[in-house]
Amino acid sequence: MPKNYIFIGAPGAGKGTMAELMIANYKPVHVSTGDLLRAEIKAGSTLGLEAKGFMDAGKLVPDEVVAGMVAKKLDTHEVKAQGFLLDGYPRTVRQAELLDAALAERGMNLDAVVLLEVGRELILQRLTARRLCKGCPAIYNVMFNRPKAEGKCDTCGGELYQRSDDTMETALKRWAVFEEQTSPLIELYAKKGVLVRVDGACAKEQNFLNLKKALKLA
Ligand code: ADP
Ligand code: ZN
Repeated sequence: MPKNYIFIGAPGAGKGTMAELMIANYKPVHVSTGDLLRAEIKAGSTLGLEAKGFMDAGKLVPDEVVAGMVAKKLDTHEVKAQGFLLDGYPRTVRQAELLDAALAERGMNLDAVVLLEVGRELILQRLTARRLCKGCPAIYNVMFNRPKAEGKCDTCGGELYQRSDDTMETALKRWAVFEEQTSPLIELYAKKGVLVRVDGACAKEQNFLNLKKALKLA
């Protein structure tokens, strides 16, 4: 049976980095609403244009918009065959309700909701030092996980860049939004008995070991 996971955690908790490692090792389909939205922006779609305003202000994109994107992904053959890893969704109680309904409609279940725990100071340092590759999904950090050559991807040689919402001002706003709108989900999933807490404050390799142990994966 394919496994279905949700990753929640503050922006910069390392959801994307852990998702990359999970996918490389266990092949669930990565469904990142942040990535899906950035793809819409890049494509210049109406949805992308609308979303960019919210994202650059550090605010959440409306619930129904992201729920629609996720539902489309759940209907793909890949997800049915390999399971999913939802990264950055749900982020509000409303989104969790919409997801519940979408899963029930499709006869899908949730194996675990992983909460990546990292304190506020470390989060802010990570976000403002984060760099992404233009050519592949690699994620770097100029403080904690530097590329071998400055500004260049170790894996593909692509150019590194900083996300437009990774400034200190927007990072602070995103943290506040997490506390207000997303943290209530922790209690909600704990009550359902599916919450798994994982310490995400170490280096990437150690965090992944913690994660595998928590999910009882070999
Ligand atoms: P991070 O988790 O580091 O904030 P993401 O790439 O997951 O980064 O998200 C970037 C932005 O995209 C968010 O600040 C928000 O504006 C928007 N976004 C992503 N996922 C959602 C979601 N589930 N609901 C609403 N907005 C979202
Ligand atoms: Zn690269």
